[in-house]
Amino acid sequence: MYYLIPAFLLFLVAFLLVRTFLFARPPLPPEDVELPAVDVQRLAVGLGEAIRCETVSTGEGAPPAAGELYKLHTQLQLRFPLAHARLKRESVNDFSLLYTWEGRQRDLPPVLFTSHQDVVPVDPSQLDAWQQPPFSGALADGAVWGRGALDTKSTLIALLEAVESLLAAGYQPERTILLAFGHDEEIGGANGAKRIAETLQQRGLQPAAVLDEGGAVVQGVLPGFAGPVALIGTAEKGYLSLKLTAAGQEGHSSAPSKNSAIGRLARALTQLEANPMPAHLSGLADTYRGAGALAGFGMQVVFANLWLFGGLVRRRLDANAQTAAAVRTTTALTMVEGGVKDNVLPSQARAVVNFRLFPGDTIAGVCERVRRVIGDEAVQFEAIPQASWEASPVSATDTLLYFQLGSAIRQVFPQAAVGPYLVQGATDARYYAGLSAQVFRFSPYLVNNEDLKMIHGVNERISLDNLEKMAQCYAQVMRAWGGEPQQDGAPEAESEEASQ
Ligand SMILES: [Zn+2]
Repeated sequence: MYYLIPAFLLFLVAFLLVRTFLFARPPLPPEDVELPAVDVQRLAVGLGEAIRCETVSTGEGAPPAAGELYKLHTQLQLRFPLAHARLKRESVNDFSLLYTWEGRQRDLPPVLFTSHQDVVPVDPSQLDAWQQPPFSGALADGAVWGRGALDTKSTLIALLEAVESLLAAGYQPERTILLAFGHDEEIGGANGAKRIAETLQQRGLQPAAVLDEGGAVVQGVLPGFAGPVALIGTAEKGYLSLKLTAAGQEGHSSAPSKNSAIGRLARALTQLEANPMPAHLSGLADTYRGAGALAGFGMQVVFANLWLFGGLVRRRLDANAQTAAAVRTTTALTMVEGGVKDNVLPSQARAVVNFRLFPGDTIAGVCERVRRVIGDEAVQFEAIPQASWEASPVSATDTLLYFQLGSAIRQVFPQAAVGPYLVQGATDARYYAGLSAQVFRFSPYLVNNEDLKMIHGVNERISLDNLEKMAQCYAQVMRAWGGEPQQDGAPEAESEEASQ
């Protein structure tokens, strides 16, 4: 019988290898195209000016920085004269901007490129740590410095630069290209992107594709990749804050009952933390399937054979808070209160638990599970309405528009693998998910782990090289999605929709 064991092992290895080779196809070699000429000087100066506009979103309910937003609008007009002469520019809800670059074929659905004008505040206690003042927009050491350099005035300026240079080169899109720049993304986007999306909806405009911020070309961030990986966000997590209220026997602390409100609340919270939502490896497997042929071979074997290695992968991911969050709905105990005096048992204790919903997990499903996990009628809970929304749909990657986006990225970043991924935070893109089935979240710049810490942190800056690549990449995506004039007049992008 023992001779069967080596035979079985041999079969298993062969099976794993076959699955691995079928798993991820090597990417096509990047097309050797001549990249469009963009004006790096204009990019650097334009971004510096934009950073000097202190368009800070301070907090929900706080008024927008009106003067600084208007100043930014004026500077954009001066810096990008062709774009402002040829595109229709509208303000939405006073401060958000919507540009329309009319395509030759009005009956085609448009494509939408978005960014946001606002930035997060600078922590005053960290001011000394900035090598250049955070709103200086200084050009130093081959980079433009300041709040918004990465998140995300760079994408706003690079989008306009792409338009400006395409116009200068005589390009005219077949389908309409829209640019939308909200003004309150950092505090939820309810007055900016949400209003723009409503405006588009009222006009019956349903973009064939949307490109917002989110992913980037990352280096040294994704395990198993020696080279850069362009992570295109194809979905983003939802959000749910539950307010828990535990009722208990009130009274004097000299004769406590076993059913105190605080004790019941504490038990409920402990149960929730000890029972995280289940992990879903499918999204991560899609990332490795898309980008995988440029990954280390071991990683390819693992992700091609999650039926065998799934448990191992789950354990490895759970060892780190970041990676654990990438594959599940997270459970975070964020607020707790109860009691007013050291010798009084309160009748109520309250807490807030914040969940970030993995696509596919729903608010109703999480609530049902919370009920089961707590298992105590005396602990009631309800969703905080303004802090609850479902996870976005997942945009398909087997489409021409996704392929065109990936090709444009590889023209500018030829070494990069390209794969879909799940955006952990919330972006303006979620407001456009109701209008378009193809919503992608990707900023075309190359960043490593150190750069990522600058986002909302100190010494935020972007290199001129990155700025140039961003504008070139946007221009290539605009050309691919916008369509080139053809003999029969139909843009290339239309063949995909016809076949759907
Ligand atoms: Zn942002």
